[in-house]
Amino acid sequence: MDFSFTDEQKLMKQQVIEFAQKEIAPGAAERDEEARFDRDVWDKAAALGYMGLPFPEEYGGSGASVVDTCVVGEALGYGGVDSGFCLSWGAHVVIGGVPIWQLGNEEQKQKYLPKIASGEWISGLGLTEPEAGSDAAGILTTAEKKDGYYVLNGTKTLITNGPIGEVFVVLAKTDKEKGSAGISGFIIEKGFTGFSIGKEIDKMGNRSSPTSELIFDNCEVPVENLLGEENKGFMGVALATLEWERSVMLAPAIGGMEVQLEECIKYAKGRKQFGRPISSFQAIQFKLADMKVWLETSRWVLYNVAWTKDQGIMDPLMASVSKLYITEVAMKAAEEAVQIHGGYGYTKEYAVERAIRDAKLGTLGGGTSEIQRWIVGRLLVGK
Ligand SMILES: Cc1cc2nc3c(=O)[nH]c(=O)nc-3n(C[C@H](O)[C@H](O)[C@H](O)COP(=O)(O)OP(=O)(O)OC[C@H]3O[C@@H](n4cnc5c(N)ncnc54)[C@H](O)[C@@H]3O)c2cc1C
Repeated sequence: MDFSFTDEQKLMKQQVIEFAQKEIAPGAAERDEEARFDRDVWDKAAALGYMGLPFPEEYGGSGASVVDTCVVGEALGYGGVDSGFCLSWGAHVVIGGVPIWQLGNEEQKQKYLPKIASGEWISGLGLTEPEAGSDAAGILTTAEKKDGYYVLNGTKTLITNGPIGEVFVVLAKTDKEKGSAGISGFIIEKGFTGFSIGKEIDKMGNRSSPTSELIFDNCEVPVENLLGEENKGFMGVALATLEWERSVMLAPAIGGMEVQLEECIKYAKGRKQFGRPISSFQAIQFKLADMKVWLETSRWVLYNVAWTKDQGIMDPLMASVSKLYITEVAMKAAEEAVQIHGGYGYTKEYAVERAIRDAKLGTLGGGTSEIQRWIVGRLLVGK
């Protein structure tokens, strides 16, 4: 076993941190306040190749491993302190791009991946619907084959990058009689007839990442935009993205927890009460100790999932353990960070106020904590 990062990984991490501190962090608080996505910041990150990291070089990517992609994600989270940016990045690379890379035919990969890898076209995934969230197989959007097209009807909601995306992987029912076995994946371009972006959704956190509905009103999708095999989209997309989603998309949270801990130590050393720095109180030290434990255990759970995936081994149980554990302790760490800052932690003066709003999404999006516990429990008892 070797738990060390290579010199190349350490150098890459440092370079990404420096970029993120210079280009992402400065406007993070304003973007949160204004709920504004910044295309300039996106383009700068794209110019450095961050939008196409895992895709093969022939499609404009860098062929980065899952571990390397996590290293970049962690560094973006640490240096950028803009969870919204990282959410949009993760949705673009992982749940938008990876299914096209993993399930697409050669023509589809040639057509879409270079634009996704360069960041020119922002991507995302449309699965959730108003009536189907945790019960994702219960989606109602239909896709009916007619005259060389699939005609899609339905509404997706809570879609990351909806307002800014050019291309989406969308799941729809091609066989209404079947549950998950009647769902197919499609590649949808913004300009397709009958496709529109619905209302933008205002959120509690991750506010620099735009979220919206996607509306399909007799949307004409050319048959060649079927992604993978008909009726195999649900498991196809799930299997293609599972470990990616439950490592790479969580990596920024690790960086976020680290920078937050550093800020808390600094604050605790500087803030005096009863004539002493609050860092001298054991109650505060215990909070810092818990935050350190959560950070380090999260980091190794995450890289374990990423490394296992790089070995070509599927481990859905550990993927759910990773999602459940990291998102829950990130929330607890954010809560302690506010507590350490006292009343000031509740004000917009300090980044911990934003961090606690951002952290909450982890336990909700991409499968709630309850659903992760359900998956882990079922796998443990063999059901
Ligand atoms: C900011 C944001 C971005 C998102 N981005 C995307 C995106 O890009 N693409 C996309 O497709 N979706 C996206 N989502 C949707 C997200 O994946 C869903 O919100 C999530 O899966 C939960 O579904 P729901 O909100 O409908 O909650 P519900 O399924 O209605 O759940 C409500 C509550 O009931 C619990 N519950 C439900 N079923 C069970 C059960 N069987 N046992 C125990 N408890 C249960 C849940 O855990 C939760 O606590 C995003 C959501 C947010 C908030």
